[in-house]
Amino acid sequence: MDFKFSEQHELLRQSVRDYCAREIRPHARDWDESERFPLEIVPRLAELGLLGIRVPEAYGGAGMDVTAYAIAVEECAKVDGSLALTIASHNGLGTGHLLTFGNEEQKRRYLPRAVSGEALAAWALTEPGSGSDAAALRTTARRDGGDWILDGTKMFITQGSIGGFCVVLARTAADAPPQRGITAFIVDTSTPGYRASKKLKKYGCRWSDTVEVTLDNVRVSDTERLGDIDQGFLDTMRILDTGRISIAAMALGLGRGALDMAVAYAKERAAFGRPIAEFQAMQWMLADAKTQLDAAELLVYRAAWLADRGERYTQEASIAKLFASEAATRVCNDAMQIHGGYGFTREFEIEKHLRDVKLCEIGEGTSQVQRMVIAKHILRT
Ligand SMILES: Cc1cc2nc3c(=O)[nH]c(=O)nc-3n(C[C@H](O)[C@H](O)[C@H](O)COP(=O)(O)OP(=O)(O)OC[C@H]3O[C@@H](n4cnc5c(N)ncnc54)[C@H](O)[C@@H]3O)c2cc1C
Repeated sequence: MDFKFSEQHELLRQSVRDYCAREIRPHARDWDESERFPLEIVPRLAELGLLGIRVPEAYGGAGMDVTAYAIAVEECAKVDGSLALTIASHNGLGTGHLLTFGNEEQKRRYLPRAVSGEALAAWALTEPGSGSDAAALRTTARRDGGDWILDGTKMFITQGSIGGFCVVLARTAADAPPQRGITAFIVDTSTPGYRASKKLKKYGCRWSDTVEVTLDNVRVSDTERLGDIDQGFLDTMRILDTGRISIAAMALGLGRGALDMAVAYAKERAAFGRPIAEFQAMQWMLADAKTQLDAAELLVYRAAWLADRGERYTQEASIAKLFASEAATRVCNDAMQIHGGYGFTREFEIEKHLRDVKLCEIGEGTSQVQRMVIAKHILRT
């Protein structure tokens, strides 16, 4: 296994790192407090190629690979979870679904808009009554001549209110087994009946746009159907495989960012006449954090490397997400402990990292779901 980063990957890492230090870090806390998505950063994200990382150059994208996608998300997350979640979901879910399963006409119509930031992408699988059991979704799409009529409610939709289009998963065969009768559709969010019905107030990743979406008699042409009829659920599982690598990378970045903060604080803060970094109890927390994050990094980039080679990586993506998210949550918690009482205040960034990282154990399949996926693979062999 040889997944060393290329020069192009290193350049990407450095450019995202510089951008985040200069243009995100100074504002991230204010945006988090106000829970306002800073639309003013979208043109710059587009300019940096962060809105079309894996989109071929023919459609205006950066034409890079899954490893690049993970690197970009990791670097964003070191500074800000909301930014990482925005980049991960826009690239991996909505845009990723179009890229992987769209026909040429659909790609030409939507990808350039996604890449330029004219239309951020949303992706709607989850519903109020179905999350982990995604195949139990109840949104329907029924045929009406050459069109489809969509009805239902979607929950936790990232970019659901600010996005220009949303890939919606809907039931197209009531009598088929749950995983067989689901189809994907591209819905322009200006279509009558598409409504961001409720903005959700969150514990972490607060400026990322998360909304409930109502679909009320939404009419879409059959040309907006994405992939084959009744096959959308299988396609969705493939999209989630790549998405899980990005959530694992997000966890890794948040953990690395928290460790950097903890190291700086431990060197600076004194107690009992010396820097707290000299106490073994503090050193062991730092050592454990470094060890866990290095292991997480290997798992994240192993999964990305397999994806880039066109090999199967479902299990490896789940392993990476499970390990990285749980490790990073521990690391952020320990980093807060190292900050003592000051870490508990909103004067320091660490509390935001600790809030943001929790999402990584939940979104795109909870830790329990990742264990189910991994166990299924182990038992199959
Ligand atoms: C900030 C945020 C952004 C999101 N963005 C999107 C998005 O853009 N698009 C989208 O479609 N979805 C999105 N989601 C939804 C996310 O993927 C779901 O929240 C997640 O899959 C869990 O579903 P649930 O919340 O319904 O929890 P549930 O499925 O109700 O799970 C509740 C608990 O039960 C456990 N559980 C469930 N089934 C089992 C089982 N068989 N065995 C053991 N334990 C089980 C779970 O692990 C969990 O601990 C987002 C969520 C959040 C919080």
